[in-house]
Amino acid sequence: MLSFPAGTSIIKRVVMDKPPVASTRFGIDSVLASAHARHRDHDDGALADYIPELAAVEPDRFGIAIATVGGKLFEIGDTTQAFTIQSISKAFVYCLALELVGRDEVLARVGVEPSGDAFNAIVFDPHTNRPFNPMVNAGAITVAGMVHDVAGASAFDLILERLSLAAGRDLAMDEAVYRSEAATGHRNRGIGHLLRNVGALHGAVDDVVDLYFRQCSILVTAADIARMGATLAHIGQNPVTGRHVFDLAAVRNTLAVMFTCGMYDHSGNWAYDVGVPAKSGVGGGILGVVNRQLGIGTFSPRLDAKGNSVRGIAAFTEIADELGLHVFDCTNVGSSFVTPLLDP
Ligand code: GLU
Repeated sequence: MLSFPAGTSIIKRVVMDKPPVASTRFGIDSVLASAHARHRDHDDGALADYIPELAAVEPDRFGIAIATVGGKLFEIGDTTQAFTIQSISKAFVYCLALELVGRDEVLARVGVEPSGDAFNAIVFDPHTNRPFNPMVNAGAITVAGMVHDVAGASAFDLILERLSLAAGRDLAMDEAVYRSEAATGHRNRGIGHLLRNVGALHGAVDDVVDLYFRQCSILVTAADIARMGATLAHIGQNPVTGRHVFDLAAVRNTLAVMFTCGMYDHSGNWAYDVGVPAKSGVGGGILGVVNRQLGIGTFSPRLDAKGNSVRGIAAFTEIADELGLHVFDCTNVGSSFVTPLLDP
């Protein structure tokens, strides 16, 4: 038996010493418990209040869940507390749009470069006139427009159905949050009109922005987003229901954009420290995907100045380090490494 310096992560210990699977599984629960305990009393950050209804959520809620591609769920804290998905929806609707209108049309209308700007920045790529990427509002509204071009008045039902299939249960929209954003979201409407002006949107701006507000108001839990992440990790197939939800190539493209652009103007720091494709939302959720292995969902609604959950970032950083999830971690040896430990 080797001895390890204090703080050596579980996966590093596994690589070096190959402990029995049972102790590793116990270790996953203890990694979640310790991340939850360490960060649950932190109250830095503030609720998003530019959508008035979001200021009404309970600020102290905190849940963490990990769903595996083998169908297991590990969870701690408020993992069944519903919150609005907000920008996390952008990843899934992008995946859907790639399937509906094809990669060429999507790339012609929205780029894949990080913008380095805030999520609601009113800025387009000066060379192409396209929104920089589908994870900022301008890009996401354009993507909603693509779904609207194809599905018209049924577009929201289609989005809700796909997100529900990804989660493995029927999701619903929070009417109060939707109405609150619809009543106050003039900046997004302004972005919509500019998109129409540069030719990125084709249809009626109000209908497209309304669709975008609705997709942002879908209610999920930390366990749901972990499972939705596991569906992406499982190349588009829900690991529990077995349903094929997303096109394989679309999943690859979506994960790439999440990796480079998913955490607003914190995406570079996130790739450096956490190293997994992710998407956050101003409702307080963060979705992470470890390709071919896991989905991770956190919920804590106090946000930093860039719109990311403060406790969510802290928990992800700790869990990724402890479990060796960073894509460039020297212990992350190949895409099937962690899963056998979690799904023996
Ligand atoms: N519905 C929100 C907005 O457009 C989503 C923003 C976010 O989660 O980043 O302002």
